[in-house]
Amino acid sequence: MTIRTRFAPSPTGYLHVGGARTALFSWLFARKHGGAFVLRIEDTDLERSTAESVNAILEGMTWLGLEYDEGPFYQTKRFDRYNEVIDQLLERGLAYRCDCPRERLDALREAAMASKQKPRYDGHCRGRDIDPEAPHVVRFRNPEQGTVAFDDLVRGRVEIANQELDDLIIRRSDGSPTYNLTVVVDDHDMGITDVIRGDDHINNTPRQINIFKAMEWDLPRFAHLPMILGDDGSRLSKRHGAVSVMQYMEEGYLPEALLNYLVRLGWSHGDQELFSVEEMIRLFDVEDVNKAASSFNTEKLQWLNQHYIKESDPLHIARLLSPHMGRLGIDPTQGPDLVKVAEAQRERAKTLVEMAQISAFFYRDYEQFDETAARKNLRPVARQPLERMRERLAAQETWSGEALHALVQEVADELELKMGKVAQPLRVAVVGRAASPGIDVTLELVGKAACLRRIDRALEYIAEREATA
Ligand code: GLU
Repeated sequence: MTIRTRFAPSPTGYLHVGGARTALFSWLFARKHGGAFVLRIEDTDLERSTAESVNAILEGMTWLGLEYDEGPFYQTKRFDRYNEVIDQLLERGLAYRCDCPRERLDALREAAMASKQKPRYDGHCRGRDIDPEAPHVVRFRNPEQGTVAFDDLVRGRVEIANQELDDLIIRRSDGSPTYNLTVVVDDHDMGITDVIRGDDHINNTPRQINIFKAMEWDLPRFAHLPMILGDDGSRLSKRHGAVSVMQYMEEGYLPEALLNYLVRLGWSHGDQELFSVEEMIRLFDVEDVNKAASSFNTEKLQWLNQHYIKESDPLHIARLLSPHMGRLGIDPTQGPDLVKVAEAQRERAKTLVEMAQISAFFYRDYEQFDETAARKNLRPVARQPLERMRERLAAQETWSGEALHALVQEVADELELKMGKVAQPLRVAVVGRAASPGIDVTLELVGKAACLRRIDRALEYIAEREATA
């Protein structure tokens, strides 16, 4: 049997990390088994669904590389099919019309609450013959006896008595079908073999199973993923920081870091922390997902991000870094090769936003010196080494890191100074700060004209200091 999984988001907001993890697990399961991964947009809630949200979901999935093989299918385009199924259920007596007024339903609910019982519809209209032309809803005739049971791939056996379930509305009075009906029709029509979703849906599953059975359709397997908690133990939400996948992109995370992070939320393979996508596909199994909730840990995500920044091909990093440079108003084609910049900075940044910030000086003059660095390094004693460096750099023709490094060493030897006494003032002059990659690559990538210009500026700064001293 070919495995078919799906991701079925409701487009009422951005793609959040919980949804992305559901999508990842469904995608991995399909990929592992050489099956298909279907994307379905559950947009039947016309008031809350938006086109922007659909775009945000597609964008997030694309960024993460969770390619779908089929879809996106939109539920709003399938109303005729849902109605066909609802009409079949009506014809076969497996559903019925109900015209109970709101006041009656409210009274039922209040009575149940007062006697501390779960509110449920009492089946009042089950035997009544209601005019199809008059306002009504359609309810599913849930079996009254027996139990519904299924073997959840994560939770194990789940069993519930039919008496606990009431006759749920499958078509509203405005004619629109409801979630539990549309999901069943779609999972059947789309040939879904494994329904992998958040455990907030686990109470819906027995109701859906009853609809599958009423239609005499084969049941898929179900896997309900445990929820994701914030660091304070409550369900992960905006309060805990970024929850939107695209916000992580904006904050300079690599998609592979977020994927690696997400796969470990509720799943493990021994104590391994790092997984390439191929490894995830090979090792992942939905049956190994934990039953217990998992907690979101931003530090670990940062650690993974730093790891992938360090270990990835600088060309890949440069591609992802480019838009972050753009956000700082820098066009990375006007200046040193961004790949070389990424290579020089790979050990120095936790995020691409940080990498862009500490790399801006390669492309444009810094606005002002970092005060502490300037006070410490651009002192009168630094004037002579800087002047000498300026002279030698101005005369230098071969602008390679190696040659430039040798030059700094020569100047230090001539002045009988330690290398650092020349290199550090030079670094602050050229970078504006005390931290940068090696002086060789720093000078090389900043380029001759900018190096000279910035050394002049540092010399002016020193001169001002001398004048006011
Ligand atoms: N549309 C539902 C949601 O976004 C998911 C339905 C499902 O996976 O069965 O929560």
